[in-house]
Order: sequence, then C-alpha cells, then structure tokens
Amino acid sequence: MARGSPGSRKQDHPHPSALADEQPCGSPRKEREPQALDCADEANQQVCADFGITGFPTLKFFRAFSKKAEDGIRISNPSATVRDLRHSIITHLEQSHDAWPPACPPLEPASADEVHSFFQRNSVKYLAMVFEKSDSFVGREVTLDMLQYENIAVRRVLSSEEELVKKFGVTSFPSTYLLLRNGSFSRLPVHMEARSFYTYYLRMLPGVTRGSYKLNVTSSASNVTTTALLKHADRSKVYMADLESALHYSLRVEVTRTRVLSGAALSALKCYVALLAKYFPGRPFVQTYLQALDDWLRNWTEPELPRDVLKEAMKNKADDPHPAMLPTNVTWVGCQGSEPHFRGYPCSLWTLFHLLTLQAFQSGPDKELPLEVLSTMRCYVRNFFGCQECAQHFEAMAAESMDKVLGRQEAVFWLWSHHNEVNARLAGSDTEDPKFPKLQWPPPDMCPLCHKEESGVHVWDEPAVLRFLEGHFSPGNIDLGYTEPDTELLARERAAADMRLSTNRPAERDGETERDKEEEDKEEEDEEEEKPPEEGAEGEGGAPERPGSSELRRPSIVRLNGKAREAQDDIVDLDSFSEQHFKSKALRAAGRRRRLSKRDTLHGGRLCIVLYLLSSMCLLGMYTFFRLRMRSRKGRPGFPMA
Ligand code: FAD
Repeated sequence: MARGSPGSRKQDHPHPSALADEQPCGSPRKEREPQALDCADEANQQVCADFGITGFPTLKFFRAFSKKAEDGIRISNPSATVRDLRHSIITHLEQSHDAWPPACPPLEPASADEVHSFFQRNSVKYLAMVFEKSDSFVGREVTLDMLQYENIAVRRVLSSEEELVKKFGVTSFPSTYLLLRNGSFSRLPVHMEARSFYTYYLRMLPGVTRGSYKLNVTSSASNVTTTALLKHADRSKVYMADLESALHYSLRVEVTRTRVLSGAALSALKCYVALLAKYFPGRPFVQTYLQALDDWLRNWTEPELPRDVLKEAMKNKADDPHPAMLPTNVTWVGCQGSEPHFRGYPCSLWTLFHLLTLQAFQSGPDKELPLEVLSTMRCYVRNFFGCQECAQHFEAMAAESMDKVLGRQEAVFWLWSHHNEVNARLAGSDTEDPKFPKLQWPPPDMCPLCHKEESGVHVWDEPAVLRFLEGHFSPGNIDLGYTEPDTELLARERAAADMRLSTNRPAERDGETERDKEEEDKEEEDEEEEKPPEEGAEGEGGAPERPGSSELRRPSIVRLNGKAREAQDDIVDLDSFSEQHFKSKALRAAGRRRRLSKRDTLHGGRLCIVLYLLSSMCLLGMYTFFRLRMRSRKGRPGFPMA
C-alpha cells in the first residue's frame, strides 16, 4: 500500500524482481508486518515510480509468483473502509485460480463429502467449520487468520449445505463448530459471533501452535519435564511473587550494574524508588523497606553514588523493631515461562508499571502529575532496563506520544495500548513463549465486554477496558501464592543476620569456662573505664573515622517506622556500628594479652621463692652438721690413724 500520511516511513520494500521470492499467502515463517510505503518521502521516489504510484492511497494486489511491477492489480475505491479493502483483497485472492499459492488453504465453501472424509486426508487435530451465509466473509477471514497455525484447519460451510446444517444442529449464521478426529463436535462458546472471537478461541486450543514454534521444540521429553514443573498460576490474578521479584531484580541487579551512579541515572533511581514508596501496595515490611530506601536516597546529596554504598543501603534490616525487608529470591508465578528463557523479568516489569499507573489513577486528581508513573518508567527503561533493543523501541514510542498524555486515566490507557502494540509486534517472534502467545490483551475470555465489532472491525470498549484494568491491577487481586510467609521470612533473615555477626566474632578460647570469660570481660570493662580515650580514635559519634571514608559515609537505613524519617536518633549508622564493634574486639585482645603476661610473672615469682627457701634450708642443715662434728673431736682421744 502506498500512502502519504505523516506516520508512514521509509520501508525496505521489495523490488518488483523480488516479489516471486516472497512466501505467498502467509508463511510458516514469521508473519510479515503490513507493508506501507510512504510515497511522499523523497527517499521512496524511485520505488514508487517503479510501481506506478501517482497518488495515494493506492492499493496494489500482487498474485503469488508475480515478477514485475506491472503485475500489480490496482484496487481502487477511494471511499472504501478497511473492511471493504479486506474483502476486496480476499476476492482478488479467490480469483487467482491459475496461481493459487501452495501454502494457501482453500477458501471456497466445504461440501458434506469433504467434511466427512476430512480426517482421512488430513493429519490435523481439529476442523473448525464456520457456518455462514454466502455473502459473509467471516469464514474466509478466520481461515486466513489461522493460516500460520498448525494442528487446525478452518473451512466455511454455507447455510445452504443442508446435510451438514442438520447434522450439526446449526440454527444461526454465522456460528462455528469444532470437529475432532474422534467425531465429537461442539459449538464455539464465544461472547460474540465474530471473526476476532473465533480467531482468539481457536488459537488458544490445546495443541494449536504457530508453525515456527516447531523450531523451538527440542524433544518431547523436555516438554514433559518443563510442563510438569510449571507452577499453577491463575492468569486472572496478579502475583506478589512476580512483583517482589521484579523489585528485587530491578533494584539489586539492574540498577547496581554500573560502578557509580550519577546524573540522569541517579535521578532515575531516585524517581523510581520514590514512586514505589508512594504507590507499591506491598507487604508491610516491603513498604517499610521502600520508604526507608526512598528516605536514604533523598538524603543522598552527593553527585555520585557508588554501587557498594547503595548495595549496603539496600540490604534487609530484619533485626529492627520495624523490619525493612525485600525478599531476595526470584520466583516467577504469573510470569513463569514454559522454558527458563521465556517471560520472567520483562513480564513482571510490565505488570509492575501497569499496577503503578492504576494505583496513581485511583489515588489522586486526574490532572495532577499525569506523567508521574509513565515518565518514571521511561527513565527507568532508558537508564537501567537490560534489554537495550526493548529500551530503544520503548523510547521511540514514548517520544512519539507520551508527552500528549494529560491525565492519570490517559496514562493508564497509554501504557495498556502501547503494551498491546508491543504484543502485536512480537507475536510470532522468537521471544514469544509458545505456551503464552502474545495477544491483544485482555483477550475475550478474560474480558468479553472489552471487545466489540463495528462494521466488521474489532474495536475496544474503552470504559469496559478501564473497569477491567482497575479490577485486575487492584491490590485485592494480588495473590500471595508462592511468596514466603512473613514470619518465616523474618526468622530466616534474622538467622542469616545472626550468622553474619557470629562469623565476625573472635574464635572461642579453649579451656575457658563461661564464668572465666565473664570475669575477664568485667575486668576489661573496668580497665576500659579507667583508661583515657585513645588519641584520635573516636569522633563525635564515638566511632573512629576510616581514612578517606568521611566523604562517602551516610547513615544506613535500619529501624524505620513512619516517624523515623524525621528522627535522626532512630537511624543507626552501620559504619559507626562496625567501627565500634571492631574497636571493642581489638581492645579485648589487648586486655587478654596483658592478663596473660601478669599471670606468667606471678607463677615465675612463686617458683623462685620456693627454690630460695629450699636452698636456704639446705645450707642451714650443712652448717649445723659440721659444727657438731668439730665439737665432738675436741672433747675425746682420737683413733689410731693408718
Ligand atoms: P508480557 O507482554 O510481558 O506481559 C506481561 C503480563 O502483562 C501478561 O502476562 C498479561 O497478564 C499482562 N498484559 C499483557 N498485555 C497487556 C496490556 N496491553 N496491558 C496490560 N497488561 C497486559 N521484547 C522484545 O523482544 N522486543 C522489544 O522491543 C521489547 N520491548 C519491551 C519494552 C518494555 C518496556 C518491556 C518491559 C518489555 C519489552 N519486551 C520486548 C519484552 C516483552 O514485551 C515481554 O515482556 C516478554 O516477551 C514476556 O512476554 P509475556 O508473554 O510474559 O507477556
């Protein structure tokens, strides 16, 4: 289609000579985007001239295997609606008898014979029969919609085909019946007898997949395993496990990827956390965590924020009277993919921001800060979202229209409709989880009233969509399934904190009783009280300053409650705490060394006295012995000598 609208852009349009290589009538490969060529753009002048485009809009139809630009059949009806154009294309396609594309299913009505023998000639699982009047296009449109889907065939059956109408008990036209290989059949239970409802229902049937999905299947065994491991998730719910995982991953992984945050990235982080603190309907300790982190970031006025400092501030504080915790595990429930590389974090980030747009919408005047959530999301995605290609696409959408959003309700619609744009762009791509096809959301079975058809074209009923979004993304619809219960989480976090503390303590001394230790500790305390403070060891707060650390130190976030943000006393500086802790350890060690040397001196002294006494007694004994002997020799005659 050649057009001159402002939205048109330069296209990599195929040269006429390449037309024959195009996969006609859709392909088992990726679905092609509608091709529009902007003939008002000078860059497209040559190709528009080649195709003989002299004005726009101009629609040209090329049969399969066309080779030349002149083969294009001009479809001219200036006042045609989209529906008329679609019908016109189908009519041209039906007239392509001599060049019927091999990948194209028959569009002519099915006969009773064909239906009876259908499963003998085809290996598919389902046959969908659209019963309709002869002038209806619904059957042919649904047939083409399902072209790329495997395991199903669609045929139109005319109301004049009495045998089949009778056999299936058809009473209204159009209506669609599903026939299975075993002969059983049922009418499609759709909210409206219309193309979009039929197509959606058929695409959701078990075993119906897009052709290209085959490429992703490795073996049936692996499928069984992954399916068996899937958690049960109700898609009408929003899961807290997904939301908390999104918060954990975004804050502790994505945001902290760079060594130092500054400028736009630091502002983006501050906005993001402020938004979460304001609107995230989390569990109490998660809300405390977000409030505390928000306060901490507000107090951070340095132009740069090093990652390590931020990581420290983001740690859980379980020992506090008002624990501030964000679970550290990543658990996908509503966002779980059928394989680990599908869904997960991006899914949860969308969910989080939809939730926030709705929370904002419901909690303030419509015209006040309409872009509060959207511009925060834009900044977050631009600065932190790991998928750069996604970020570029999102930025392009935002640059085009986000600024035009004037109210909070419009913000809800902006995000919803642009997410659907992304869904449409990604449908059938490699990143699509075959078990969770990209849909225009919410699909008819989740919200039948959201869908309408006007003049054969699908339209959204916006008031119904808003009601649905309000209900779906409300705090009451958040399921706590698969989250760790509050008490268990608290106990685990406290045990982990104790463990960290105990690994920092000096090793237990062998052979000392608890009482010994207590006495020694007391002695140490007494000694400490008597000692003057070491020079330069303590600042005002009682903790020594680490060299070079004063610039970066900020109070860490712990013990936060509602009032704590104003009360400085309630803020414990983790750095001071650790300094004091390590200082007291050093002092204890010094005291112990002193006591040991005193004890050794005492023992040595005692030994010397004993030896001294022993040697004195020995000398005294010898002296007495020789005196007595001399006296006895002087008093009586001596004995003859030899
Ligand atoms: P998602 O599309 O992630 O949706 C998550 C959930 O939100 C759904 O399960 C559903 O419950 C709900 N939902 C779906 N549609 C809507 C809607 N319109 N309104 C409200 N709720 C809805 N991937 C790419 O390959 N290329 C990209 O360019 C790209 N851009 C992205 C941009 C952003 C900002 C984000 C967050 C993600 C982007 N992704 C992109 C990832 C992609 O959009 C999906 O998130 C991912 O493929 C997972 O898809 P999903 O099936 O889990 O559903």
